[in-house]
Amino acid sequence: MIFRSHMHLALDEARAAAARGEVPVGAVVVSPAGEVLARAGNRTRELNDPTAHAEMLAIRTACARTGSERLTGCDLYVTLEPCPACAAVISAARIARLYYGAADPKSGGVAQGPRIFSHPQAHHVPEVYDGIASDDAADLLKDFFAARR
Ligand SMILES: [Zn+2]
Repeated sequence: MIFRSHMHLALDEARAAAARGEVPVGAVVVSPAGEVLARAGNRTRELNDPTAHAEMLAIRTACARTGSERLTGCDLYVTLEPCPACAAVISAARIARLYYGAADPKSGGVAQGPRIFSHPQAHHVPEVYDGIASDDAADLLKDFFAARR
């Protein structure tokens, strides 16, 4: 099968999040057959919910849609390095491949901080591909925070 990135959809969700006044992060879950199961952007402010991160919402929707607590074989695209909480959920959901954009030195939990997938307690470790369209993802975040200052 030819690899087709879905990061552009995640970036669309990040832009939509920024337009809602949310930190611009977007995520997409893709089935093993290549079907988009869910797409979401951050909604922590709107929902008054610190767990309403883009990848968390996308995983919840994809699980509800497939009627399973696991997304075995699915890919997750997210514009920013997942935080430790989302990384733990990505592991629990058995996501096969994680593609992310910008690194997050402040709150990331994959390549820095607690490095959830390198931890002995990580029961499932996805393949991780970082730096996918990272400039676009980082620019969105930069512009968002610059505009708030
Ligand atoms: Zn998170």
